[in-house]
Amino acid sequence: MKRITLIAAALLFCSALSYGWGFFGHKVIHQLAIYNLPKQLQGFYFKHHNYLISKSVRPDERRNDDPAEAPRHYIDIDVYGDEAINTMPEAWEAAAARYTADTLLKYGIVPWHVVVVQERLTNAFKEQNADSILYYSADLGHYIADAHVPLHTTVNYDGQLTAQKGMHSLWESKLPELFAQTYKLQGKKATYLPDTEKQIWQVVRHTYSLIPQTLSYELEVSKEFTPEAKFDQVERNGKMRQYYSDAFAEAYQQKLGSMVEDQMRAAAQQVASFWYTAWVDGGKPDMDKLMFQALTKADKKQLKQEKKAFRRGQLFEKCLVVAAKGQTKE
Ligand SMILES: [Zn+2]
Repeated sequence: MKRITLIAAALLFCSALSYGWGFFGHKVIHQLAIYNLPKQLQGFYFKHHNYLISKSVRPDERRNDDPAEAPRHYIDIDVYGDEAINTMPEAWEAAAARYTADTLLKYGIVPWHVVVVQERLTNAFKEQNADSILYYSADLGHYIADAHVPLHTTVNYDGQLTAQKGMHSLWESKLPELFAQTYKLQGKKATYLPDTEKQIWQVVRHTYSLIPQTLSYELEVSKEFTPEAKFDQVERNGKMRQYYSDAFAEAYQQKLGSMVEDQMRAAAQQVASFWYTAWVDGGKPDMDKLMFQALTKADKKQLKQEKKAFRRGQLFEKCLVVAAKGQTKE
């Protein structure tokens, strides 16, 4: 437990600034996605796993410089009404015709942006451009992962409308950072997605369906806590700020059951399936030829070891989670 606390302390600063799964969650999801890939792609993605894992957070970092970036990470679907999750046109043109493009941009465009980046990745495979394949794979994975976070699908994105402010980073950063090593993250092999637009909307609808529990469980657990026990007061830049305490996070995690782990596992599976689908639609180029350097014997041995640990749910135990290694160094 001491180690977990240290990790959490090291990452507290990042968590407060992150948007979507926290940096830790994004990195873990991209790493897991590689294990879910079929053989034809896995060597290439594994060879470049450090790039894919470290760049999994680039879209969040880009938000600081690019004003067009922010809406690509979420969709406040409930601003369009209670039924909008089922009635929103899936195609951008039809949705823009109904609500205007400006309105859609204002309340977030994650599912539509996934479709755009998917097309860019497919083109990169067609052009057999390894740099672009890596670049768009990293970006695409990020947006798909964000679409799995319930608070990325509601206008009440931080619990700010229901006096639950701070829930965003509690759910997507603090819980995975504290408990990912207890999660079952073994996923199924990537599958071909005949309609990626439909697929990402299905993801968003499921994610949105988790909002009632996400919010109401926090209220239920709060009944067991005094405000002093529920929050830690932390001084940052001369200002006192409050964050959910570890004890509260633990009780909330227990109440949520497998929700966060299910969403992490599902995100990794979807990321792998979208990557795989782009490769198929891009004409199935021979990825071994596109590798900057062929897999060495040692690489192959390492991949085999990691896949075995992944299947057995021992990645954390065997210290093979790249994001967790980064934490202990900090
Ligand atoms: Zn994001």
